[in-house]
Amino acid sequence: MVQVFEKEGVTCIEIHAPEVGRVYFYLVDGMLIDTGVQRFESDIIPILKDLSFDSVVLTHSHEDHSGLGCWIQENRDVPIYVHPKGIDICKHHCPYPKYRQMVWGIREAFTPHELPEEIQSRNYKWKVIGIPGHAEDQVAFLNQETGVLFSGDLYIRSKTKVIMDTESIPLMMQSIRDVLTYDFDSMFCGHAGYLPNGKEYLREKLANLERTYEEVKALLIKDYSMESIHSQLFPGHPSIIDFSEGEYVSKHIVRSIIEDINNNHDGH
Ligand SMILES: [Zn+2]
Repeated sequence: MVQVFEKEGVTCIEIHAPEVGRVYFYLVDGMLIDTGVQRFESDIIPILKDLSFDSVVLTHSHEDHSGLGCWIQENRDVPIYVHPKGIDICKHHCPYPKYRQMVWGIREAFTPHELPEEIQSRNYKWKVIGIPGHAEDQVAFLNQETGVLFSGDLYIRSKTKVIMDTESIPLMMQSIRDVLTYDFDSMFCGHAGYLPNGKEYLREKLANLERTYEEVKALLIKDYSMESIHSQLFPGHPSIIDFSEGEYVSKHIVRSIIEDINNNHDGH
């Protein structure tokens, strides 16, 4: 199911994937931010045909954000930009596991350009802020004139219960701290949609991650193993663990925090 609505002059395209929830992409000032999901292309392509845009920027290369990059490249004469680390990923046909192919469809290969540090839409400049943690090629787009931020998958939700092995909690925390040093009000999230007072949401998420970090640290000091810390802090078994064939698990939360603590310790 796909819906289109406006918030603060931003066209929001909301896609509802029954198994996993919502994903959004946006049009602002003639610039498309992400491309939608290949699985729902029969609903999305007619919308893309109606939208007026002359550039496309990707918050990151994941298939729920880049799914129609190939269609846009073949059908619209506009440049597509992604973080330098995402270029090779986008050039590969469908580089992700089966369950993600079922949920998001088959993202075909396309060839994007490298994002500059600042990108111009029709009337505005957008600062490109690197926000690794969820994906190493993730960026946010900030309009310093209007205080609008497009935050990709930096937020998603306030409580993080499972992550992939490619994700890192300490890097997410650092990216949230970096973004919070800028002035902005409204935040447009890849999965939570339009969030007025975006900083409040990010501060709440950061506080939750900091609490988890300290809990892991306290147990590590007491010499508990990673497995034991994991079972003490994350006793539940969310259904996404089985659904994702073990790609999304809570143990990567504990592992990435322990690695960070050990690296910092070695550094002193
Ligand atoms: Zn993502």
